[in-house]
Amino acid sequence: MFFRLNDEQSEIRDLVRKFARNEIAPHAERWDEESHFPREIFAPMAEMGLAGLLVPEQYGGSALPRLTGALIYEEIGAADMSTGVWMSVHNMVAGLINTYGSEEQRARWLPKMTAGELLGAFALSEAHAGSDAANVRCLAAREGEEYILNGTKFWVSSAGVADVYVVFARTSASGSRGISAFVIERGMAGFSIGKLERKMGLHSSPTGELIFENCRVPAAQRLGAEGEGLRIALSSLNGGRINIGAIATGVARAAFEVATRYARERMAFGRAIGAFEGVQFTLADMAMRIEAARLLVYEAGFKMDEEGEDASMYAAMAKCLATDTAMAVTTDAVQVLGGAGYVRDWPVERYMRDVKVSQIFEGTNQIQRLVIARALLGEVAAAK
Ligand SMILES: Cc1cc2nc3c(=O)[nH]c(=O)nc-3n(C[C@H](O)[C@H](O)[C@H](O)COP(=O)(O)OP(=O)(O)OC[C@H]3O[C@@H](n4cnc5c(N)ncnc54)[C@H](O)[C@@H]3O)c2cc1C
Repeated sequence: MFFRLNDEQSEIRDLVRKFARNEIAPHAERWDEESHFPREIFAPMAEMGLAGLLVPEQYGGSALPRLTGALIYEEIGAADMSTGVWMSVHNMVAGLINTYGSEEQRARWLPKMTAGELLGAFALSEAHAGSDAANVRCLAAREGEEYILNGTKFWVSSAGVADVYVVFARTSASGSRGISAFVIERGMAGFSIGKLERKMGLHSSPTGELIFENCRVPAAQRLGAEGEGLRIALSSLNGGRINIGAIATGVARAAFEVATRYARERMAFGRAIGAFEGVQFTLADMAMRIEAARLLVYEAGFKMDEEGEDASMYAAMAKCLATDTAMAVTTDAVQVLGGAGYVRDWPVERYMRDVKVSQIFEGTNQIQRLVIARALLGEVAAAK
């Protein structure tokens, strides 16, 4: 076992780090203040291959391993968590179209998605279906060669700014096997954007409602087989969880760097605050936790590259540990900065506001613990 990146991995990480430091980080504060979705960086990101991480080269993608993806997401997350989130969702959606789409569907959407022309969004959650994802009520009634969609999807990242939405809707009453996936384009008749959420953080990544009112969707836009939707949705979440773990590790790293710099410079009682053991121990704990989280994220990425969906326990562990770590580390960073940590002149309050949601979406951290327990205990943990 080698605890060293190979040449390709280091090169990609360094390129993305440079891009993130120059093109994303300097604007993140303004984007947050103005709730500005930075569409202008989508094309440059695509040029670097970041809009088709899971898509083969024939459709313009870069088809990178999950572990390399984790390196990339940490760099983007360290610059701006919001950007990491919409980028992760976009790549997840392109990956789904690549895996479950027909040849026609791949040719129709993927080249434009990997070129940064079409942005993807993922719409599973509803008012009554968050953790309980099988409780989807949005209806897709078949009528000849079309489905007629009626219902509302909630909390959709990139709502309104995305062009291509993978939407999960009910095609029969048979529980988790009655859900199907559809690719729906912005502008289709009967599809509109509802309320946009006012959030604690992640202000430059819009989150909102999708409304379907007799929206006629050609059967050719169904992704995968009828009834396969929930399986498709859940299969994408493993990779998404590793991405979120990596993004959260990046946010934690950024917070730690600010706190360390501040501890060297801020004077109290005639000394730099970093001279006090109380502050030193906090910084030492932050550093330890970040290293541990990063290693578990890497391991989950490695396992997913080797074992595919069998790595779900590791994806859940990585997501849970890394996001709990990031919440603790960003909170500690605010504490190390004292009053300066609580005001917007410093970025740590934004890191803390942004990262909270990483414990909630892509499956809450309670749900991650259920996934882990079920993998460990089998039927005993699954029994009702
Ligand atoms: C900013 C943001 C962006 C999002 N983006 C998307 C997106 O792009 N696409 C999308 O489909 N969704 C998205 N979501 C939705 C997100 O995935 C859900 O909020 C999440 O899955 C939790 O569902 P819920 O909010 O309904 O909480 P609930 O399921 O109502 O849970 C409430 C609480 O109960 C706990 N709980 C529930 N069930 C159990 C259980 N069995 N055991 C123990 N505890 C349990 C939960 O952990 C949580 O603490 C987004 C949400 C946010 C806030």
